[in-house]
Parts: sequence; structure tokens; C-alpha cells
Amino acid sequence: MIQINNLVKNYGTKFAVDDISFRVSKGEIVGFLGPNGAGKSTTMNILTGYLSSTSGEAKVGGIDILENPDEAKKLIGFLPEQPPLYVDMTVNEYLNFVYEIKGCKLNRAKHLEEVRQVTKIDDVKNRLIKNLSKGYRQRVGIAQALVGNPPVIIFDEPTVGLDPKQIIEIRNLIRNLGKSHTVILSTHILSEVQSVCDRIIIINEGKIIADEKTESITQVVEENRRYHVKVCGPQREVLNVLKSIPGVISAELTGERELDSYTYALESEKGVDIRKPLFYCLSEKNYPLIGLESVGMNLEEVFIRIMDKASK
Ligand code: ADP
Ligand code: MG
Repeated sequence: MIQINNLVKNYGTKFAVDDISFRVSKGEIVGFLGPNGAGKSTTMNILTGYLSSTSGEAKVGGIDILENPDEAKKLIGFLPEQPPLYVDMTVNEYLNFVYEIKGCKLNRAKHLEEVRQVTKIDDVKNRLIKNLSKGYRQRVGIAQALVGNPPVIIFDEPTVGLDPKQIIEIRNLIRNLGKSHTVILSTHILSEVQSVCDRIIIINEGKIIADEKTESITQVVEENRRYHVKVCGPQREVLNVLKSIPGVISAELTGERELDSYTYALESEKGVDIRKPLFYCLSEKNYPLIGLESVGMNLEEVFIRIMDKASK
């Protein structure tokens, strides 16, 4: 459904996108994951015809976006990083306006009602966009992408700036859209792609560093077992006990302290569950364990793991 071949975009000597290639099949939900400045928006803007590439090829449904932009754009609904909302219009006026500029042929009243239902904005249809909350505005942005019922949907950081409840709602909406559409979404949040996408493309400094099923990325993340443990007792002695536990690779103080307890960061060997020995060793020495929390990897650490794995 989507083909990107050797795409390059440079600004002077800076390569925002540096020879990227990937494909997305019909019906997939693909997450484009990378830190700020990785080249996510640039790639999406090229794919949707908002920006021209320096070289390379981008096709949607077999149609080249440069050669035949009008036809290619009909296949795509796009939510850019900054949605192009006209804030002095009501939601309804705006969606009608989008319907016109897209040259939509579907039954207007019925289609726009459907779009409003799916994005749950029917109750604000007569409100001015400028008076809507950020969460509602984002849904109006998604609604404009859905006008014309395009088979491919591309969302650039759709949950940025939303509160946790709105984030859950938007993720659910995207998951549902994924049942009947091909979806690409970008994000810098690992858990977002893990919860929504079938496949994850990781991009860093304009290059793809991983393109794998979500499960295999999740495996990499979970291979690493790290904990924060809170133990009562003198730092040095407790640290020695922690280091002596079989399976513990490293133990260090985090600097966090509460009354007579300190928090330590532990890393364990792959495939070894240190939680029970941890409990027994500490209790044998009379150092009460009062907190045990597993610590996830951040995006940078995931990158390092994946790059390590790729170079082996
Ligand atoms: P992301 O969306 O992953 O945060 P972008 O695609 O927006 O990343 O940007 C990729 C890189 O290209 C960044 O280093 C950014 O500073 C640079 N860049 C983006 N747009 C421009 C521009 N118009 N002029 C110069 N540099 C740009
Ligand atoms: Mg961006």
C-alpha cells in the first residue's frame, strides 16, 4: 500500500532523512518511533505530498506522490503535527469546507455525520473550533483526515499535548480505525507504539535502525530486568549484600533516601529472576526490603540494545 524507496531529504548539509526505505501492506498499523529531530515529520510530509524530497521515491497505492500528487493524495488522510484548523469556523463549517476542497463525492450529510460519530465530536458540531479543548481539537483534526474515507491514514504525533484520559481515547480511536484502514503513526513514546501498532519502525538521525514486529521489540525491552529496590539499613552493607546475590550484575545507589532506607538500582542477568533470592538474602541479614519496582527501558536504552543486537 505504501512504498518508500531510498528517500533522502537534506537541508543544506543536514540530512533530515537519509536513505530511508520501507513498505507498509494493506491493513497494517505501523508505528514510526524516534526521538525529536529523528526525521519522522519530514518522512510523513514527503509521503503525503506536503514536502518535496531531495531524492528517492514515495508511492501510495502504487501511485507516485511526485508524479501524480492529486491522485495519490485522494488515498491519504493526514493529521500533520500542527493540524490545519480554521479556528473561526464551527466544527461543521470546517468539515464541510474540507469536504469541498477534497472534492468528496460521498453523500455529504451522511458521510460527515459518520465522521463526527467515529471521532466523537457530534456534540460539539456547532461550536467554534477556537473554543474547543485541545483534546476535541485533535479529534477535529482526525475527523478532517477521515473526510473522503481514504484507505490510508497518517498521523504525526497524534497524542502530543493531550492529558492521560484523552491519550487513551485517541489511542482507542486509532486502534479502531486500524481495523479498516492502513495506518502509520509517529511518536516518540515507546509504550504508544507498543499499545497500538503491529509493527514498529525505529528511526534515528534520519536512518531506520529497526523495522520489526511489535512483539520482537517488546522482547528486547523485556530482556533487560532492572529494578529499584528500597531497603532499610546501612548503605555500604546493604550494597554488599545486594552485589553478592547470584544473578545480580550491578547494584548502585540511586541517591533516593527515606528515613532509614535507601533506594538501589539493580540489574540482573538475562533469564534470571532475582526477586526471591533478593528477599531471602536481605531478610537473613535483617535488612527489611520495603520496596521493589521493575524499571522499564527508556527510548535511548532501547536504541542501544537494538543497535547492539544488529551489530552482533
Ligand atoms: P521529527 O519529526 O522526528 O522530530 P523532523 O522530521 O521534524 O523530526 O526533523 C528532522 C531534522 O530535520 C531535524 O534535525 C530538524 O531540525 C531538521 N529540519 C526539519 N525541517 C527543517 C527545515 N525546514 N530547515 C532546516 N532543517 C529542518
Ligand atoms: Mg515531528
